[in-house]
Amino acid sequence: MTAPYEQLVHQLRQAFPQPVSDRLHDAYFVFSFMRALDQVDAMKSVSPVLGGPVTLDYEAARQSRMAESPSQLEQVTEELVQHLAGMFIWGHPRAQINVVPCPSIPSVIGGLLPSIYNPNLVSEESSRQIAVAEVETSAMTAALVGYDPELAAGLYTFGGTGTLLYGVKLGLEKACPGYARTGRNEPAYLLCSERSHYACLSVANWLGIGQDNVVQIPCDDDNGMRTCLLESQAREILKKGGRIAAIVATMGTTDHFGLDDLHAIVELRDKLVDEFRLDYRPHVHADAVIGWAWAVFNDYDLAANPLEFRPRTVRALAGARRRIEHLGLSDSLGVDFHKTGFTPYVSTLFLVRDRRDLELISRKPEETPYLFHDGHYHPGRYTLETTRSGAGPMAALANLRLFGKQGLRALLGHLVTMSETLRERLEGCPWATVVNRGNFGPVTLFRVYPDSVDTFTIRQHEEKHAEAREQLRKHNEYNRQVFQLVQQEALQGRGVVISLTDCYRESDYGEPMVALKSYILSPFSEEQYVETVLESLAKAREQLKS
Ligand SMILES: *Cc1c(COP(=O)(O)O)cnc(C)c1O
Repeated sequence: MTAPYEQLVHQLRQAFPQPVSDRLHDAYFVFSFMRALDQVDAMKSVSPVLGGPVTLDYEAARQSRMAESPSQLEQVTEELVQHLAGMFIWGHPRAQINVVPCPSIPSVIGGLLPSIYNPNLVSEESSRQIAVAEVETSAMTAALVGYDPELAAGLYTFGGTGTLLYGVKLGLEKACPGYARTGRNEPAYLLCSERSHYACLSVANWLGIGQDNVVQIPCDDDNGMRTCLLESQAREILKKGGRIAAIVATMGTTDHFGLDDLHAIVELRDKLVDEFRLDYRPHVHADAVIGWAWAVFNDYDLAANPLEFRPRTVRALAGARRRIEHLGLSDSLGVDFHKTGFTPYVSTLFLVRDRRDLELISRKPEETPYLFHDGHYHPGRYTLETTRSGAGPMAALANLRLFGKQGLRALLGHLVTMSETLRERLEGCPWATVVNRGNFGPVTLFRVYPDSVDTFTIRQHEEKHAEAREQLRKHNEYNRQVFQLVQQEALQGRGVVISLTDCYRESDYGEPMVALKSYILSPFSEEQYVETVLESLAKAREQLKS
């Protein structure tokens, strides 16, 4: 007689991959996954949404409770698949929504393998060659962005916010030595641009720098930090004895693909160190989570242009390269493979130019009694996290190998070509204006206007002159309405899903400015879908006339 619990254990064992090869059961495992994929596939259509739009029922969700008895594996996967209904298909050619990529197949497998064998990157004891993958991809990326791969070190963390947390933490420890131990901190400041990601505020908040001590430097028209204003703010802080925890250079802002002048920022930092005889070197962190990928063009011969990009694309790539090629000057930087590297979430690399900096945040051996006995690679000594998944480095490794520099150049070049085509078409419209003209990435911000508006002068007028406030608000509303109509059409599978940003910048008199946003990140994007955007916009404008 077997006890009831034994029967249950026996039954549940079938739901685990077998520890010893069992071909029959392996087939069952693979087949279960294939069936799930099949069911998802049945939800695909011409529309960029899986299974069509759904209403989200949180009320029902709150009534959910754990059942008494186990379920069948097949039932469980079916329910999981149902949860994908209503998801955007980011890789759909009719999707130009946000900086969310569709993951490549090898990168999915890169995420899947660790999810079966469960390496833990806390140390090499628990992750073996997956730890090697972390070192391998760190070296590849370091060399790509212009760090010395022998000197640099990298670790995977929980997103772009995590990279900022590490970067600013190093800077804080440089500016206020001993703070990590004593918790005592002199007033320290974080300087970044007004278009930097709000993660800068989160990080200042969580590190105890204080959100109020984040100094947001105004940007120029191209969404880059005005370095002269950075200088005056930094001087003011240093004169009154304040410390600079970090300067964050945003290398690819989220909404605009704005690029700060990292070269000038580093030069300024060095000048101030000498002039004020600082006993520390303010840390410069490059938030390159979006822009890093453009480093593949650092050694692309733009003049010979062997990939035969269009002239307009070459110009756009050159425009980005003049900033990105200086990434190696930063002290640390962040890379999101899960943004412009086509991997699944979460695959984020924090790189530090000089690995010795990690000593600043390393734990002492006696603080981690149960870990790090053998071997010599123990990232858990300096990572905030204890458990870290192997999915990040394995997915990154997959794509770095899959693409090679040339493949990534081709993909990014294609995306830039598509958005340049959109820009060209929008610039040709008397009723539209591109508002991030000086930025050369895959994202286009634009505003559309009713017939009577002179789009040659409107942008300047709305940005600079307070008497345009009412008009600006009215046009914000107009763009929201156009967005709604374009969205409706897109969800029916006829148009293209774009997005809207409530505030791509504030006007000089402090009013939020709305923009429509096209983020082209799908390898499947084609010119005909750029045309579709234009058609949808025109149609929406007509509807608003009546
Ligand atoms: C997306 C983004 C972040 C945050 O990164 P996550 O990976 O979403 O945590 C930080 N900075 C910039 C510029 C970003 O675009």
